[in-house]
Amino acid sequence: MCAFDLVVLGSGGGPDETNLSGYLLKPREASWEAGIIALEAGSGMGALARIMRKHPEIFSYQSPDQHVTQEEDDRRHYSARDIYSMIKCFLITHAHLDHISSLVMSAGSVGGCRKRVYGSLQTLRDIEVVFNGRVWPNLASWDEQEESSRLLYQSLQPDKKYMPISKDISVMMMPVSHGMDEQGGVIYESVAFFIRHDSKDREFLFFGDVEPDSLSRNSRNVEVWQRAAKKVGHSLNAIFIECSWPSTRPDETLYGHLNPQHLLAELTVLATEVVKVRPRPREHCPPARKRQRVVSNTSKAPGVLQHALDGVRIYITHCKADFDLARPVHLEIADQVRTLVERDKLGAEIIAVEQGMVIAI
Ligand SMILES: [Zn+2]
Ligand SMILES: [Zn+2]
Repeated sequence: MCAFDLVVLGSGGGPDETNLSGYLLKPREASWEAGIIALEAGSGMGALARIMRKHPEIFSYQSPDQHVTQEEDDRRHYSARDIYSMIKCFLITHAHLDHISSLVMSAGSVGGCRKRVYGSLQTLRDIEVVFNGRVWPNLASWDEQEESSRLLYQSLQPDKKYMPISKDISVMMMPVSHGMDEQGGVIYESVAFFIRHDSKDREFLFFGDVEPDSLSRNSRNVEVWQRAAKKVGHSLNAIFIECSWPSTRPDETLYGHLNPQHLLAELTVLATEVVKVRPRPREHCPPARKRQRVVSNTSKAPGVLQHALDGVRIYITHCKADFDLARPVHLEIADQVRTLVERDKLGAEIIAVEQGMVIAI
């Protein structure tokens, strides 16, 4: 049973400015008109317009859970501007430009209701720097009463609680590390969101940019994996996570991001946590055990982790565009991740996220 519809406005991590992290989200049973959550806001209205020219039916698709009258159906000839004005709130992982540029660019022209901008306090403070009246006019406010501001900041707390952000949707935010400043002193913070459909009790995990725990001075991914592990196989079967670089990228130049080897290591931690919390099967001696060991000797992961992530979909995001390659880099990177995950038989399905994709979660 799916609980969400998600349209990918952009899924790259730069330098291609036409394809940056931006996703439109709604509960599956609701219409887009009832209110959209913009998850990240790198690519926005321009990307949306191009996607809608290519796929004019993209927002009129009716999921089986939806109940739409003929009259409502007839009205569904939306423009990119119409759709963008249906955004009720933005949910932002961190304030790097590739995650907020369309939030800024559209702030003065977008229609519809006043939109809340959810993020950590630090993320919102960083966005404020852009809306300082010089880089961009100040179009956002902290004051609920200040009706003239198109955007309203609302910070989320890293308190491990779910906060309702839209009808039937709540979010739990967990901080993660995303590299260090030039001097190597301060760890830059991003977040992972658990996004839950409250009445269906289904959720997915969405990572902002993130560095490997094995290289971090503040390793916080493990805590996210521990949380996720309890839900895998029950309420959670979809994880969006970055893999910015291909496998040739050395550790020294990851700049707070993952490559396929490190993503595999992270998924192995998740698999380990899943095995820990799963009820143990009754002790028995499988007759084919010896042979299985011989067959799996190419795998580096312990046999107990095999198939731990069966049924889990890993959506690969934020691949850094490489204009010198003939083949799109996100397909290349997803293949590299898939090869490693299959070698270790973790069981997860690896999907390359692409601009214009519609994903049912
Ligand atoms: Zn980014
Ligand atoms: Zn970033």
